[in-house]
Formats: sequence, structure tokens, C-alpha cells
Amino acid sequence: MHDVLIIGSGSAGAVIANRVSEDPNRTVLLVEAGPDYPDLSETPFDLVNSHNNSYTDHDWGFNYEPTRGREAKFPRGRVIGGSSAVNTTIALRGVPEDYNEWADLGCPDWRWEKVLTAFNRLERDLDYGAESYHGDAGPITIRRYPHEELELPQQAFLDSADRLGYKYCADANDPDDYGAGPHPMNKLGRLRVSTAVGYLAPARIRPNLTIRANTTVTRILFSGCKATGVEVQNADGSTETLNAHLVVLSAGALMSPKILMHSGIGPKTQLESFDIDVIGDEPGVGQNLGDHPALSVVCEVNDSAIINHDQPIIQTILRYTAEGSDKRNDLQIEQISFAGRPDGPALFSIAAVLEYQYGRGELRLRSANPSDPPIVDNRFCEDDRDTRRLVACMKDTLAFTGKGALKDMIKSITFPDPARGTDDESLAKLCRRFSGSGYHPCGTVKMGDVKDPLSVVDQYGRAHRFDNLVVADASIMPFVPRANINLTCIMIGEMIGEWLRTKPEHYL
Ligand SMILES: Cc1cc2nc3c(=O)[nH]c(=O)nc-3n(C[C@H](O)[C@H](O)[C@H](O)COP(=O)(O)OP(=O)(O)OC[C@H]3O[C@@H](n4cnc5c(N)ncnc54)[C@H](O)[C@@H]3O)c2cc1C
Repeated sequence: MHDVLIIGSGSAGAVIANRVSEDPNRTVLLVEAGPDYPDLSETPFDLVNSHNNSYTDHDWGFNYEPTRGREAKFPRGRVIGGSSAVNTTIALRGVPEDYNEWADLGCPDWRWEKVLTAFNRLERDLDYGAESYHGDAGPITIRRYPHEELELPQQAFLDSADRLGYKYCADANDPDDYGAGPHPMNKLGRLRVSTAVGYLAPARIRPNLTIRANTTVTRILFSGCKATGVEVQNADGSTETLNAHLVVLSAGALMSPKILMHSGIGPKTQLESFDIDVIGDEPGVGQNLGDHPALSVVCEVNDSAIINHDQPIIQTILRYTAEGSDKRNDLQIEQISFAGRPDGPALFSIAAVLEYQYGRGELRLRSANPSDPPIVDNRFCEDDRDTRRLVACMKDTLAFTGKGALKDMIKSITFPDPARGTDDESLAKLCRRFSGSGYHPCGTVKMGDVKDPLSVVDQYGRAHRFDNLVVADASIMPFVPRANINLTCIMIGEMIGEWLRTKPEHYL
């Protein structure tokens, strides 16, 4: 029997495993469905190589429906380190208003001044570590590419941004700033500094931490309303029960709600339709799915020598506010260094991304079989407030193709087809049909006030209506912050990991 059993070793789960096992008197069992690579020198190249995402070798193979009737792949890391081990290594924080809005929704301990402590603790910022809003001693190393290390399309993006009148922003994580500049990134050269590298590598020598890889949790077990452990499936197909005093669910925004539903916690009618015994009717499980809808402008370049599929896929960002919007920094534009296939035409793209989302999607079970993937409907751009601002962002993105160094590089725009029109109505149709995920699903096990019918856990991650059960990952975010969410997931691991370490009595 372990003191704490953590399901999933991703951006949040690996951090919690580290923080809780700092107490030598508490035993921690970290259960991960994917493989482990304890010897870093034997880590496969796709996990080391942060110049591009790893999409297949360590992936769950899920699909989703971004807009009605259209299906696409939805990558999620299945490996020690979770999605932090396969991602693009953009290390951006939300704006302070995001966390203050969370606080106003029944989570006062997530106010900006409080989460800032955790953001500072998690990072070693090599450029701005001395600033009061940064850290210089944390497990995740963060750095920005200096101008001379930027690939040509990335340099050109900043030149065009300047010509279009956007101000330069040296540190996109300065809480008050905005503009175009280098992305803060958790990579060193090619090396991806995942939570497996930053948090688990130094902790795995602790005798009170056990890491059990290739072990898939099928459901959480309960005695009445109290979690007592989990049922797992091993790689050889055998099943087993693992007991613990406290279960922490950190399987990510797609798997955490799914595991809860297979355990009998979720919308009653849905569970009953699959003959799953209902332990608790929780209408919020799987609802409130948030993300960042995005659409790209794809361009063929004049000189194919500019495009190299082995260069860093991204290095720069523009954070800014839509005209008339009261949500600061609600839009992003990013230069993607290459697009398409290496053996195809020489392409790059410029991504328009909506950062403050009003619409919500939904995740449901496909069947009663825990091995079946979930059904994920994002329903992007069904809320006109989202469509309107993504259209504005697309127009601003198209402007980059007509100004400065980017204009000089571009031979033609291949998407959206200029012949089909770039007026508001044409672009709105495109957004409603083709916008896709920024790969930031969240919100499906919402934290908040117990009076909110959709909230499942309180602000400390504790299940409202079940004992000895904590949820801590992207799924608890009340809504998506205005930034790529990996750093916020690590921050969630830091916040809840520290509470678990310092106030264990609050959790049992
Ligand atoms: C391709 C890609 C690129 C991205 N790029 C960026 C980026 O550049 N910057 C950024 O900020 N964000 C990025 N993201 C998003 C970000 O990485 C994720 O939102 C974040 O890592 C999610 O953290 P998490 O802890 O919620 O879940 P995860 O990190 O996904 O961790 C969940 C873990 O639980 C395990 N698990 C799931 N189910 C079970 C089960 N039944 N039993 C046992 N284990 C289980 C999984 O294998 C996984 O290890 C990207 C995501 C992807 C996929």
C-alpha cells in the first residue's frame, strides 16, 4: 500500500511525483501507461528532438472533431513526461488576468500573485532569471533564441511585424508586455527539457518513489465514496489492483475524465447508457472542453533553400489584442518554419491562434471498454465572439504576407485560396469549417465552487463529493489561459504538489 498513487507522469503528474516524494517518509507510486527511459542517454531521438513534435512513436493515437463533421488526429504523449516529452517546447505563461478570473470562479488561491510563486519556482530562466517575475533555479530551463540563431523565416517574421507597426517584445513572459519577439522555450539546443528530464531524472533515485511504466489504469476503485486504489492493465494484458491511501489523477484533459467515467463518476445518463455502475452523478465530467482554435496561412516560398524540415519548427511569436476586445493578449500569430512534406513543395505557414475562447466542447465515452478512445467534439467557432476574433487574426496574419521580409520570401499563398475571397464572411466560413486545435485541451474536470454544477473538484484539486481523490492536470483549468498551456500544467503540478507535501492532512 502506497501513501500516494499518481495516475500519469505528464506535465503535472511528474511534478507532483517529485514534490511529494521530497518527503522521505511518504511512499509515492507513479503509474504511467507509456514506456520509461530511465537512462537519459538511451532516450529515443523523437523525445530528445525539440525541433519538431513527436507525433507517432509515443502517442495515444486519438482523433477528434474540431468542427462538426470533420475528423483529425489529436496527438497526446504516451510516455514518461507525457505531452511535455513530445511537444514544441513553447514555454509561455497566461496573462495575470487569466488566473485572477480562475480565482473569481471559486479558486481564490490561484490569484496571480500566488501562481507567480509557482511559475518562478518551476523555471530556470537563462535570460531574465533576475527579474522579480522570473526564477533562476527551477527544474525547467528556459531560454529565447537570440536574433542570430533565428532561422531566416523567423527573422523575416519579426521584420514584417516591425513594418506592420507591432512593437518588439523581448520577453513574452513579462506579465505586462505584448508584441513580437522570440518565444521563451524549454529547450537547450535540440534537447527538449520535459518534466521527465527536469523533474523525474533527479527524483528517481529516491527510495520512496516507485515509477511503474507500461501500466494502464482502467479505473479508480472505491469503497463507498472513498478512493482506495486503481485497477491496472499490464503490458502483457494481465490486470491487477494497486492500493493507496490517496489517488491523484493526472492523466491529462482527455484521459482524466475518461478514467473517471469508467470508474462510475460522470453524467449519469451517459454512464447508464453503457451499463457502467454509477458511483456519483457528476454532470461536469467531460464537459467544459476548452482549447485554442487556430487556422494557418500556408505559403510557397521563392527559394526552396530557405525551407529545411530539420530546423526549429518555431522560434518567434506575436502576442496582441483584437481590436475592441476587453481581453488583453487574446490573439497570437506565430511563424512556422516549414509545412507540408519534406519531399513536397517548399512551404511555410503563419498560424493565427485565438487565445481567449468563449465556446466550449465536450468529451464522451465511445463505449464501456476502457481501451476505446474517447469521442472529442471541440465545436470550434460555434460562438460568434470566437469566430469574429479569429477572422480578425486571420486578416492580420494575411497582412504579414504582404509586408517586409516575409513578402519578399513568398511566391504564392496556397491556403486560404485567394481566389475564394478574404472578406470577413469568406474567412468566417473558413474558420467555422477548418479551424483546428492548438493541442491545448483542458477544462474537462473543472475546478471551482461546489455550487457550480459543472465543477468536479475544489481549488485544491480535491473531488467535491469523493474522499481521498485528487485531480491535477490540464483537465481542472476552469478555462484555457491566454498562452500555450504546458507551463500552466507544470505550475498546477507545483501548486498541488506543494499542498500535498506540506498539508497532507487536508487531503485525507
Ligand atoms: C504535439 C504537441 C505539441 C504541443 N506543444 C506545446 C508547446 O509547445 N507549448 C505548450 O505550452 N504546450 C504544448 N502542448 C500542450 C501541452 O504539452 C499539454 O497541454 C500538457 O503537456 C498537458 O499536461 P497534462 O499533465 O495535463 O497531461 P499530459 O502531459 O498529457 O500527461 C498525461 C499522462 O498520463 C498518462 N496516462 C493517460 N492515461 C493513462 C492511464 N489510463 N493510465 C496510466 N497513464 C495514463 C499519459 O500517457 C501521459 O503521460 C503540446 C501538446 C502536443 C501533444
